[in-house]
Amino acid sequence: MIFPKINLHIHSYYSDGKNTIEQIIKKAQKLNYDFIAITDHFSDSWKSNIIKTLDSQEKIQDYLDEIHFYNNYLKKSGSKLRALKGIEIDLGSSFNIVRRLVNPQEFNLILFEYLETYESIAFIQKIIKEWKNNYQLDDYQLIFGLAHFDPSNFLYDDFKILLDFLRKYNIYIEFNSNYPQYYSTKYREIFYDKLIPFRIPVATSSDSHYLSQLDEIDGPLSIIEYYELNNNYKLLLDKLEKIEW
Ligand SMILES: [Zn+2]
Repeated sequence: MIFPKINLHIHSYYSDGKNTIEQIIKKAQKLNYDFIAITDHFSDSWKSNIIKTLDSQEKIQDYLDEIHFYNNYLKKSGSKLRALKGIEIDLGSSFNIVRRLVNPQEFNLILFEYLETYESIAFIQKIIKEWKNNYQLDDYQLIFGLAHFDPSNFLYDDFKILLDFLRKYNIYIEFNSNYPQYYSTKYREIFYDKLIPFRIPVATSSDSHYLSQLDEIDGPLSIIEYYELNNNYKLLLDKLEKIEW
């Protein structure tokens, strides 16, 4: 089956990526992508001491304006490529800084990274509730995903709490080319097979920091095929098709 080509996890020089948004967009066009997402880091945890992050309102605005500018360029030039305005929120961040700096209405994709405990599930629930209280969230414009989720953290727990949570908030699971060990068949029965009845969307990404990594989605795609998650992938593609640009 031929699917649209997507890569929903890409870093630019706004955080720890090595390229400008312009360089990423032009390379993605050459690689024949349908959808990419620029997902720079947002964090005030330990991580913010070692990498650049989207750490001020001004910087976030410049970042969003730049992605918007290149989407307009793509539209005008008749390109099929679209670039989602994304952000990757470190779940070790403080609630107040996320609430203060991240306006969910400005984004198409919010990735959460390091979901390793039930406390992180509670954190996401709290922040989504806060957003829903303060903003009109449009399900057709805003997608939620879990970046490089590692099932081993939940190996001895009941995955049902996690799966119910993902289904309730319509959060997708990412297959990320940098972390093949997370997709081991030892997790098949306890987790990956269950994504099917729970109808959890799945996405492909390469978590790229260099242009040379931008095309690394064959591994993630073969995992989707291997676990027979084509319909889950389609759930995500449907959401992407509904975004208004
Ligand atoms: Zn990342």
